[in-house]
Amino acid sequence: MLSIVSIGPGWAEHVTPAAARALERAEVVVGYKTYLDLIAGFITGKEVVSSGMMKEVDRCKTAVERAAQGAEVSLVSSGDAGIYGMAGLVFEVCRERGLVPGRDVEIEVVPGIPALSAGAALLGAPLMHDFAVVSLSDLLTPWGVIEKRIAAAAAADFVVVLYNPRSRKRRWQLGRAREIMLSHRGPDTPVGIVKRAQREGQEVIVTTLAGFDEEVVDMQTVVFIGNSSTWSWEGLMVTPRGYGSKYSL
Ligand code: SAH
Repeated sequence: MLSIVSIGPGWAEHVTPAAARALERAEVVVGYKTYLDLIAGFITGKEVVSSGMMKEVDRCKTAVERAAQGAEVSLVSSGDAGIYGMAGLVFEVCRERGLVPGRDVEIEVVPGIPALSAGAALLGAPLMHDFAVVSLSDLLTPWGVIEKRIAAAAAADFVVVLYNPRSRKRRWQLGRAREIMLSHRGPDTPVGIVKRAQREGQEVIVTTLAGFDEEVVDMQTVVFIGNSSTWSWEGLMVTPRGYGSKYSL
């Protein structure tokens, strides 16, 4: 059995009981070193296969192979494994190799708390209305596609959540995203920047679209850009659902 285990944003209390059970059952735990450190308490004494950032394809193949041979394997993914995580890659590898889930290898996806929920909770309630999530990583997606999606989400007045916003090597993309947003939204549009949500070193900044400092944004950051009715208040960022215009609050 291969369990693709979502471990949530960081703190152990955000690991669901179902994820904890899957980890407990595992003989082999496969994952990126940083994530395995987050769940060290759940995997003591187990066989651990860890590897660095760019090795996700190797990690996935190892996990699939070991499970197909009959081992109980947990493949660990941060946040929710089905959101820019390892789940899709597992099915791609299986499909490529003709390994049918349920016939050649048992696979389960254990859901978890994604960074967008972990971050939104710290900001208050920025995602109370329709939102779009865009990853700014152009390592696997052409930049032209990313720009088109940001522009479409901006034009349609979605709250926009940016994943993978800025790394040491990818520095200009966030500025370009801001420019596109500014061509559709006011400079005072609230922006929430959440670093290391629900893990060691957590930081929350509420600022504006024109005013935010790109330098504070790194790869452990998720950026929330409000829609035209989002407001900031007392360090919070809230997108009203519309109750206020219908009911007396
Ligand atoms: N599967 C994960 C996303 C992995 S992509 C999920 O469901 O959240 C990696 C990106 O997610 C990072 O670049 C960052 O933008 C975001 N991220 C993941 N964990 C985070 C955290 N604890 N705090 C802030 N951003 C986080």
